[in-house]
Amino acid sequence: MPQAHSYYCDGEWVDSDSGETFAVRNPANPDDVVAEFPKVTVEETERAIEAAVDAQEAWASTPGPERGAVLRRAAALLDERSEAVTETLTREEGKALPEARGEVGRAVDILYYYAEKARDLGGDVKASSSAETTLRTSVEPLGTVGLITPWNYPIAIPTWKLAPALAAGNTVVLKPASMAPTVARELTDCLAEAGLPDGVLNVLTGSGSVVGSTITEHEDVDAVSFTGSSSVGSQVGETAAATGKRVQLEMGGKNPTAVMPSADPAEAARIVADGAFGVTGQACTATSRAIVHTDVYDEFVDALVEEAESKELGPGLDGYGMGPQVSADERESTLDYVEVGESEGATLETGGGVPAEPRHETGHYVEPTVFSDVDSEMRIAQEEIFGPVVGVIPVGSFEEAVDVANDTEFGLAASVVTDSLGEAERFGDRVDAGVIKVNEKTTGLELHVPFGGMKASSSETYREQGDAGLDFYTTTKTRYIN
Ligand code: NAD
Repeated sequence: MPQAHSYYCDGEWVDSDSGETFAVRNPANPDDVVAEFPKVTVEETERAIEAAVDAQEAWASTPGPERGAVLRRAAALLDERSEAVTETLTREEGKALPEARGEVGRAVDILYYYAEKARDLGGDVKASSSAETTLRTSVEPLGTVGLITPWNYPIAIPTWKLAPALAAGNTVVLKPASMAPTVARELTDCLAEAGLPDGVLNVLTGSGSVVGSTITEHEDVDAVSFTGSSSVGSQVGETAAATGKRVQLEMGGKNPTAVMPSADPAEAARIVADGAFGVTGQACTATSRAIVHTDVYDEFVDALVEEAESKELGPGLDGYGMGPQVSADERESTLDYVEVGESEGATLETGGGVPAEPRHETGHYVEPTVFSDVDSEMRIAQEEIFGPVVGVIPVGSFEEAVDVANDTEFGLAASVVTDSLGEAERFGDRVDAGVIKVNEKTTGLELHVPFGGMKASSSETYREQGDAGLDFYTTTKTRYIN
């Protein structure tokens, strides 16, 4: 039975006065309503911000190790519930069970990681040029932060934002994406049961233009960390900066894998297929361009088609390896791009449509799709598709591969498949992307190293994850003590 969920304000799940709700539906079977959530109003958002502001001083004065202990207990609770949360994630967002299990496990690990970081946030004592003075630096929280997150990693992304924010002593107002807010609720329950004080975390569901905008504009919110599309992100960035907030924006990608003549074409095709069709192509770091040297081009395209046609699409809850797209609109958008690719003159090698098996009748499935003969100027080589579509672009040299890799507005992740250490290093030096991989797919991140993009993929000023993930949520005071 679908559950009518409320929103979380000042330590309580409360019903919204708006009287309006939205349904979260299973993308593999849209008749299956996973949950209902309220559309929170401007006034309710403001009340939650007020609760966060009121709770901030006490939370910041709580010793770091105690804040960390709350995160550690929440990690243990989420770990205990991980199978149930995994199923909810697959049911509301559509990704295959092993992918959902990996994401929930990642959220657990992130909570443990920042629980440890809270023990020692930094700060230093230095000698002064005056014998009577001691110099001390301390790492301080910013205050109250707004977190706005997308649907495609609906538990990992909220966790990688709120864990460092809370570890550092900030209070939080979180706005999860409407397509998949149920796992954010489960995460909130773990934190509440772990002893997070009232008001320290508040979770508001509803429309981006109401809840998201109110957070972005509100004068008592000190910083906004946003992950989502470039179009919404640039708007959020402008508004947040105009109201004097610190802003972090992580946005779209058009991630390339370059395949050099020394690569084994079959192995390169496996790497590209994993990056392009994993999580149904709905990752910001998904591989959407294969830039392939003509020496290995024909063999590579054949092998990639074979990889694409080997994928078994179906409901994740029934054990299939590749799930549907998250919504009918997302599927339409992908199918529109297939038409664009064909009209631009690219060769549709495989896929491009809705699969015909009976198990696909109800869900938002799209076949894994490979275009060859793609030119870098085509829209399918320039715009983020956010579905299981990859375009193969032929190039005649390493230099040309680098130029094509850089030939979009985005700069999130990029990889190269080569046996040459020199090529691998030069690719990393010259390609403008925040994540560079060698002989690996563009997707997949480790939690203890910085993550973020360049160019239109990111605001670039701050990175997420690892030690760098704390920088956004903190500032430094230098005390001269005479
Ligand atoms: P989206 O931009 O549509 O929405 C993101 C969030 O912003 C949602 O919570 C939404 O409700 C909110 N929002 C919408 N309008 C708003 C407004 N006017 N003011 C404030 N908030 C508003 O993105 P999406 O469809 O949920 O996610 C997919 C996108 O996210 C893709 O472009 C993908 O590349 C990107 N993404 C980037 C990263 C990264 O780290 N770079 C990671 C995952 C996803």
